[in-house]
Amino acid sequence: MTNILKNYDKAELKRLDNAHHMHPFTDHKGLEGEGGSRMIVRADGCYLYDIDGEKILDGMSGLWCTNVGYGRKELTEVAAEQMNELPYYNTFFKTSTPAAALLAAKVASLLPDDMNHVFFSGSGSEANDTNLRMARHFWQLEGKPNKKIIISRNNAYHGSTIAGASLGGMSAMHKQAGLEISGIEHVQQPYWFKEGVGMDEDEFGLVAAKAVEDKILEVGADNVAAFIGEPVQGAGGVIIPPKTYWAEINRICEQYDILLICDEVICGFGRTGNWFGHQTLGIKPDIVTMAKGLSSGYLPISASGVGDRVYNTLYKKGGEFYHGYTYSGHPVAAAVALRNIEIIEREGLVEKVRNETGPYLAQQLATLNDHPIVGQTRTLGLLGAIEITNDKAAHTRFEPEGRAGTICRDNFFARNVVMRACGDVMVCAPPLIIDKAEIDHLVATARECLDATAKELGVM
Ligand code: PMP
Repeated sequence: MTNILKNYDKAELKRLDNAHHMHPFTDHKGLEGEGGSRMIVRADGCYLYDIDGEKILDGMSGLWCTNVGYGRKELTEVAAEQMNELPYYNTFFKTSTPAAALLAAKVASLLPDDMNHVFFSGSGSEANDTNLRMARHFWQLEGKPNKKIIISRNNAYHGSTIAGASLGGMSAMHKQAGLEISGIEHVQQPYWFKEGVGMDEDEFGLVAAKAVEDKILEVGADNVAAFIGEPVQGAGGVIIPPKTYWAEINRICEQYDILLICDEVICGFGRTGNWFGHQTLGIKPDIVTMAKGLSSGYLPISASGVGDRVYNTLYKKGGEFYHGYTYSGHPVAAAVALRNIEIIEREGLVEKVRNETGPYLAQQLATLNDHPIVGQTRTLGLLGAIEITNDKAAHTRFEPEGRAGTICRDNFFARNVVMRACGDVMVCAPPLIIDKAEIDHLVATARECLDATAKELGVM
């Protein structure tokens, strides 16, 4: 343990955590009965180690973010160097830092040819707040101030700030905060397994895309600023749209002159077998949201990639854009992100996912399709999902919805493997360095957990 921690024993740490630490996305009532949170004390490669000395395979890359895995000395070294040289300076008011400039150039070089500019924020949520403000400001400058509405999808996740949660389509979040803010509209998601039962998948893709067009026609194209979507919805349950979906969304956004914001917070930096999900799925974005894999989660940093069209209006015509964060382009986070991208390049992690581990995960996860409570497995690169169902044909859920997923998730937990439950969908997104033996372990554990879950549900 690090120096700060070694004076505390584990019971004391758990007690302090319980007494004082308000956890995000956690029901604390549940924690009290279970002896507190599982405390993670160190990590290496694809493995976490908890305070009790257990070794845990992290099938989720933390929160979908540690793309290069844990324990990268190169990243801690570059952070220390940058901290000694310049621990902080801002990028407001005509100042910059080498790390921010170099990272902007590097990220721009990975993005599409007509996307040459980058705005930095601290988190995915902040980046989406930035994108909303940019999109609305852009249309004002274009002389179309009524183009304000942002169209999003039900069950989308775009963050937890007021704008992020409003852009997202998580009804439980909306309810608690009295959201969403005005000028955001949600339409059907392209979730074939759940919402396209009995329909051809490609046909369903067109139906889900048409929901976007219908909404544009309902509210008037003159009032719509942008459409926002994750290439693959992550937190919603690794929802991989039918092949027809994104091509149609491209067409719709072009036809009605609506900006397309691609939220690549999860899909970016190799996750789908290309640098970005929009490359894998053929999406033509005007603005791209990035976070997580940008620094592999080692330090908080996010970015908005901005296409030439938006940039030229916003920054050449627009004067000052009254927006920015104290930590926009933070030099230490930027230096770490830059080195993280170098590691992804040097180790060929994008190609590894595309050619080796992505196809292998797909093949192995598919072996679970014969399981009595599995309705579908699906993957894209190193994003994977297992649909738990009580009826393989009707795709219905065990009652009450979400219980089967929670039981299954707890079974993983007990076996020292992390997979997450999104309702009744088990999802994984392991570090991009995972090898085939580790994928075998992940999938073998999944079968054990599904067996145990089925038993608990009275099926096996
Ligand atoms: N967009 C997407 C697609 C995400 O998955 C997330 C986080 N899971 C966010 C935005 C928000 O990022 P953050 O938690 O860094 O604010």
